[in-house]
Parts: sequence; C-alpha cells; structure tokens
Amino acid sequence: MTVVPFRPRSNGTRQGSLVSAHGQRSVLPPPGVKAVGIDLGTTNSVVSVFKEHREQPETLIYEEQSRLVPSVVHWMPETSTELVGRPALEAAHDNLGELIRSTKRLMGLAQQTFLSNGKQYTPEEAATSVLKYLTGHPTLSEEISAHGQLWAVVTVPAHFDDAARLATVAAAESAGIKVLRIVNEPTAAALAYSMLPDVRDLDKETLVVYDLGGGTFDVSVVEREGLVFNVLASEGDVQLGGDDFDTALAEYLAKHVRPELASKRIKPGSTAFKYLLHLAEDAKKKFQNQGSVQVKAENLDGTGAQIDLLLHRDVFESLAAPYIEKTLLLTERAIHAAKKRTKNISRVLLVGGSTRVALVRKMLEQYFPDCMVDARLEPDLAVSWGASIQAAIILGLEPSTILVDVCSHSLGVGVAEDSRSIDENFKKVARKFGLLRPVSEEQLHLVLGDKFDEFNRELRGLLRVAPIIHRNSPLPSLRSEFFNTLFDNQIAVQVIVVQGEGETVAENRLIGTFMFELQQPCPAGSKCEIQLTYDQNGMVHVLAKQLGTENQAEAIFDSRTGEVKGWVALADESPENPATDSDTEAIAEKSPAAVAFVPSKSTLADPSPQGAESEGSGVPAPTQVNAILVRARRHLMRLSSSSVHHGKLGQLIAEYEKLLALSAAGEDCDDALDAIEQDFQKIFES
Ligand code: ADP
Ligand code: MG
Repeated sequence: MTVVPFRPRSNGTRQGSLVSAHGQRSVLPPPGVKAVGIDLGTTNSVVSVFKEHREQPETLIYEEQSRLVPSVVHWMPETSTELVGRPALEAAHDNLGELIRSTKRLMGLAQQTFLSNGKQYTPEEAATSVLKYLTGHPTLSEEISAHGQLWAVVTVPAHFDDAARLATVAAAESAGIKVLRIVNEPTAAALAYSMLPDVRDLDKETLVVYDLGGGTFDVSVVEREGLVFNVLASEGDVQLGGDDFDTALAEYLAKHVRPELASKRIKPGSTAFKYLLHLAEDAKKKFQNQGSVQVKAENLDGTGAQIDLLLHRDVFESLAAPYIEKTLLLTERAIHAAKKRTKNISRVLLVGGSTRVALVRKMLEQYFPDCMVDARLEPDLAVSWGASIQAAIILGLEPSTILVDVCSHSLGVGVAEDSRSIDENFKKVARKFGLLRPVSEEQLHLVLGDKFDEFNRELRGLLRVAPIIHRNSPLPSLRSEFFNTLFDNQIAVQVIVVQGEGETVAENRLIGTFMFELQQPCPAGSKCEIQLTYDQNGMVHVLAKQLGTENQAEAIFDSRTGEVKGWVALADESPENPATDSDTEAIAEKSPAAVAFVPSKSTLADPSPQGAESEGSGVPAPTQVNAILVRARRHLMRLSSSSVHHGKLGQLIAEYEKLLALSAAGEDCDDALDAIEQDFQKIFES
C-alpha cells in the first residue's frame, strides 16, 4: 500500500515547516534575510529585529518616536485613503466612533465586520491594513527590496483557535509578509526573558508568563533549563484585558455626565461612550503615578453633554479587581494543568501594557507570596523581542535555543458509546425532522430528500468526543487510542476528527472526516486504532488501523482550513482519492449503511474500556520521523545541560529541522536525515 510520507522524500509529497494560508508550501527564505518578529497586538503592534546572539533585539520606531503602533484603522472618505496607527487616532480624534480598533478579539470570524466612515472591514482586513502599515518602516522596506519579500514570525494569543491563526496568516500574506511561524505570545515573552543576563546562569526554573494586554489575557507555565524552554500549559481569555478596565470605568463616568438626560442617552458604541472610553484609559494610565485624576470634557457628542469629576484610584481599583481576579483564576488553572503548585513557581513574568496597573502587581504579589513578580522586561516589547529571536532560531542565526510549544485545544474523534445511544440519538433527530414512525434506511433517503445531509450532520453532532491528543500536549504531538467496533460484520467506521473541549461533536470544531472500510469478517468488538499527529503548523495526520489485519487508512487535514492535504485509502484503492464528506456519498452508493448514521452497521466504534496510549514504540513508518523528533526533544529535556550529549543533541535537532525544511523545498536530503536519525538512536541508547 502507498503511504503519504510524513517526512518529505525528495520524490514524494512536499511538506515543509513554513506556513502558508492556502496550503501551498513556501520556498525557503534566501540567505541574509533579517530575523523579524511582529507582535500584532489587539491594542498595539510592535516590530523587532534580531541583532546578535544574546543582544537585545532592536525595536523599530514608528511615528512620534513610538515603538508601539496602535492597531487601529481609519477610513478617510474624502480622499479615499486609509490611515493606520497614530495618524488614524489623530484623524479620528473628534469622531472616535469611526475608528476601527480591538478587531483582533474577533479574528477568524469573517462575518463580523467593522465600519469606518461607511467602509467595511473584517477583522482579517483590519489586520492586513495594520501589517501593511508596519511593513512601510524603512528597515523593512529595505528588506523587501533586497529580498523581494519580508519574512517574519508573527505572534498570536495562546488561546487563538486554528481559525483565528489561519486568519492571522492570511492577513500577513495579504500584506506581503511570509510567515515563518506563528508563535504564542507568552511563549515569545519567555524567549525574550532568556536575554536577561542573570537568567542565563540559572540552571532550571518554572515560570509563569502573565500577559495582560488591551483585549486579551494569556498565561503560560514555562519550564526552562539552560536555554531549553518547555511550555507546560497555557490558559487565557481572548475577551479579557485593559479594555475591560476602560469599559467599566467609562460606564462609571457615564453616570456622572451632565445634564442627566444626556447621561441616560449614552449607550455603549455611541460617540459619547467612545469619548468616555478614551478619558477612562487616560485616567487609568495616570493612576500608575497619581492617587486621583480630574476627568473633564466639555462636549462629549456634539450635544453639549459634559463631565467634570475628581476620580480616585480606589474607585478604579474596585472596578478593575473582578477582572484581575478572573486572570488569577486562569493562572491557577494553568498551574494546575502544568501539574505544578504555586510553590513550584520561581518567577512571574509581567507582560502586556495592563500589567502597569499597580493593583495587578499587588494582587499577583499576594497570590505568589514566595516568588518574584518580575517586571524587568519591557512589558509592551517583550513579545516582539521573543518573536524576532524565534525568527533567528528558524533562520539558523540563534543556534542554541530550543523551544517546545503546546497545543491549545484538544483533538479527538466522534464516538458512539453503545448501540442503544445510537438508537436514542436517531430517534431524537428523527423527531426533529418530523419522522414519527420508524423508517428503514432506504425509506429515510426518500422521506428526507434534500434534508438527508442535514439529518446526518445533526446525527453526527450528537456523537460524544473521545479526546486523543489532550490540550497542553507538547507539539508536535503523536498519540493513539483504541476503539471497538459495535456490530457484527460492521462494514465501515466513519472517522470524525474534531478540535475543542466540548463533549459532543457539535460542540467542537470539525477538522475532517473520512470513511474507514473494515476488512471482513469483523465481529463486534474488533479493535481499531486511531492515531493522531498534530504539528506546530496545524497539520493533523490521522491513521486508522484495523488491528490484526493489514487494513489501514490515513489522511492529512489542515486544521486551520479543514483542507485535505493527503489521503491514502484502503490498500486496493487509489491513493489519489481524498475522502471528504462528499466522498462518503460515493461509499454510500456502494453500501448505504456505511454513512447514513442510521442505527445499523455503520456507525463509529465505541471507545474501548482498555483504551491505551501507544507512543514511541511500534510507531509505523510514516510517522516515525515525527516520533523521533518528539523523542529527541524530550530526551534533551531530561539530559542535564552540562552533560556531553546535551549540546550534541541540541545541535542534531537543529540540523534535522533545517534538513526537513530543505527537503520540503525539494532538495534530496534523505541520506543526511537518515544519518541524523542513526545519531539520535545512538544517543537514546547511550
Ligand atoms: P495588546 O497586547 O492587547 O496589544 P498591550 O500590551 O500593548 O496590548 O497593552 C495595551 C493595554 O495596556 C491597553 O489597555 C492600555 O490602556 C494599557 N496600558 C498601557 N499603559 C498603561 C499604564 N501605564 N497603566 C495602565 N494601563 C496601561
Ligand atoms: Mg500583547
């Protein structure tokens, strides 16, 4: 049987490590390109360029000598021009209602749009505008003219799902940026932290990276040994940040607007409210150094509504405290997910502009009484520094740092618990579709007509999810589970791969589905193994095996697009044939019972009570390479940084990754890859 090689062979399917929104693999960056890191923030965006090993990266300066570029867009209908950053803020000063901001909170939701003077922007389009503006900096323009393109690492909140990540990559591509890698913001901050001189000498520590920005909160627990970083767990909320402080304070201010009638008219989203938000943010920043602030404005919305109020810090803190408590809860959850306790944490790194709020620091110090709440990193710049360091690692300019990231959402498959639950689900959906009497499978097609697919989708949505790769697993990750078939002579299993933490298929994101036909005879309770592999670029590799037979099938899905990248069907079927939902119809023609999710011999296997993990040993050839990398990285983490093998193994991993990338670009590196695999093996056995 033909397999889709996981490791690119020179004559095989190409697969590299560079991200492309539409699934095409990018060509490798030419030598001499700069290592650029972009923190595309909800509130502010920052660009840094890697300079020298162990030197602080250079942060680019934009208008008004500022390193922070507000992530805002303003459309000027008179001149049909688009303004971004500070010029946009200034142009919209008297009409803040027309300023587009905080769009990143809705990234990946293309149906959500923002309006500026009649021009509509999706979150992705707003991000494209900001990124295009960033690339206009002379240093980056120079880079584009020298190399025809800009290569960069772009960061996203750890909690972004794959749709939001994909939208970010697509926005970058529309702005002419080739994304070297998407990196989680706290991961990038932890990398930047490695630049602090005293940290380099610390042998091992467990950090909490606490990143509270304008619109998003992210927290990661990171273990660092020497220059090896291992992100143990990430938590966060893409709807929590300094904007919430501003909104709470603006709502408070609205109650003090005079005349009272005007105060009652102020609604969230109105011009007056946006003005109050602006005043609230201003006051909030002043509370860093002052106990009270005079908030004053003569005309909030052109109708004479005004405010003049002496605001005390206590009031602000009582409004902000519930949001900070929420961040502490998420922090606790991340520590728990990392299987650590608060007392194991040696340092809390403060990242994000909102960590300048004194109460944030005070509450963190109370929560972590025995460890240092570290504010030495520039909270607004750390993420972009880390991104540029990551770019340097990818480009081979920063050889000795290795980063292990985790997946932020679980991956699993839809399962039926038993035949009774299938019957119940079927009845439930049938009732919904107005089928009050039992019907045969043949009749079902006739009765439902056009609604047949919808019926199947509903039925599929009710299946329970058995997670295979759990959230917070290190990436790339490979894990499998065993499942039982439900019926005697069951003819097929529908493999439904989903992403998320929901209990049922409908509550998760559908990544892809394919039909796995079973070899006969196949008594009920026959074991099938479903193995999932997930990499940093969101590729999901699915391998289904019928135990005790040679029968297996596999597919590669791009979890960000749901696109099928490669497919190998049964041993006697064409490997060119991707099996997607539509293909299940073809199988349906052959054996209708295989797809319709009717209570018959078709439905997915139930989770085996003996479901066990199989990792490392007995890994089949196509995924072996991936397993080797995972194993090598784990092995490296177990080795003491002073051991003879540590440096050697780190070097081998870096070389191996580079060769994989070259191989993806079409070069024949198979021999060199094989040689390194043998070297890995020797180190594992030593
Ligand atoms: P993001 O990562 O969302 O782009 P940043 O890290 O740039 O955000 O942080 C922006 C947030 O930090 C905004 O809500 C801003 O009001 C807040 N902020 C910036 N400086 C201060 C300060 N001195 N005091 C309180 N909040 C601040
Ligand atoms: Mg940020």
